[in-house]
Amino acid sequence: MKYGRTYNFSAGPAMMPEPVLEEIRDEMMNYRGSGMCVMEMSHRSKVYDEIIKAAEADLRTLMGIPDNYKVLFIQGGATLQFSMIPMNLTKNGVACYIETGAWSKKALTEAKKFTDVRVIASSKDKNYSYIPDCSDLDIPEEADYVYICENETIHGTTYFKLPDTKGKILVSDQSSMFCSRPCNVSDYGVIIAGVQKNVGPAGIAVVIIREDLIRDDLDDKLPVYMNYKTHADSGSLYNTPNCWAIYCCGKVFRYLLDLGGLPAIDKINREKAAILYDFLDQSRLFKGAVVKEDRSLMNVPFVTPTKEQDADVVAASKAAGFDNLKGHKSVGGLRASIYNAMPKEGVEALVDFLKEYEETH
Ligand SMILES: *Cc1c(COP(=O)(O)O)cnc(C)c1O
Repeated sequence: MKYGRTYNFSAGPAMMPEPVLEEIRDEMMNYRGSGMCVMEMSHRSKVYDEIIKAAEADLRTLMGIPDNYKVLFIQGGATLQFSMIPMNLTKNGVACYIETGAWSKKALTEAKKFTDVRVIASSKDKNYSYIPDCSDLDIPEEADYVYICENETIHGTTYFKLPDTKGKILVSDQSSMFCSRPCNVSDYGVIIAGVQKNVGPAGIAVVIIREDLIRDDLDDKLPVYMNYKTHADSGSLYNTPNCWAIYCCGKVFRYLLDLGGLPAIDKINREKAAILYDFLDQSRLFKGAVVKEDRSLMNVPFVTPTKEQDADVVAASKAAGFDNLKGHKSVGGLRASIYNAMPKEGVEALVDFLKEYEETH
């Protein structure tokens, strides 16, 4: 790695692509002749308007977002979306949630403050190590939407097939898989994603929402910032947005397009994940924590036979120059987050390290 950088396996904030960081560095003191850094610019200036418009246009191209969907950049991360979703989508007062781990649990706990939450499927019985069967869910007629966390960052599961929502609106938290593989946006009513896992620095969530779900009857009912209409009507410029994060995300969208788009990064991500899973599948010491069919390509939790040994591997990995391999406290063990920006060489180096550890222990 250049610049003495480390292979950082953090679940988020996470690695950014090196060419993107270099470009940002080069534009730091004087953005394209504007005489200032993006951090110093008015969000109402012509030069910034071009930055935010390009970021949105490039994301639209990258994901193939249809014209009847709005793209919003909203502060407060994915966590604020856990509240904004029920605040904006509740009509009948019933919402269906599929509970597959800590993040869907947080989302449904928040939603209970605003609507009647029905947990229509759960994988809690096996410590969230799989995705439940979602082919014939019991969805009440009055349900306003069906909510999933499409990639559970902590437990390492992902949906390779979306639930059959029986015509109801699908809402998906894509935070830890956003722009990591092709996505058919028309399958969703709303996609939310905190950006600091796969596409940028912390500080915004991207919300992709079908236009007809943005309502005119909430202006007097919701705090102005919490109303999707506020952001949709103002092009995400109602108040001062996180200009810096939007600029950095825009760079990553451009970088992914130049790479060949989502099919290209998907191919790389599959190769990367296969290197690690193939090793885990044949290892006598390390074991993956998730059933094979539902394994995330982004977050890979694994364990040794004992807690003590888990801790020993984490310490040894740190000494060997890897960072942030400790599993989340609720799951334990180890976790390697291998988002878009983790180079293949990083995963290969990790597997070499784990192999050697296994041989010498
Ligand atoms: C990280 C994460 C969140 C929380 O994101 P914040 O931006 O910190 O609010 C929500 N959902 C998932 C799936 C995540 O990985």
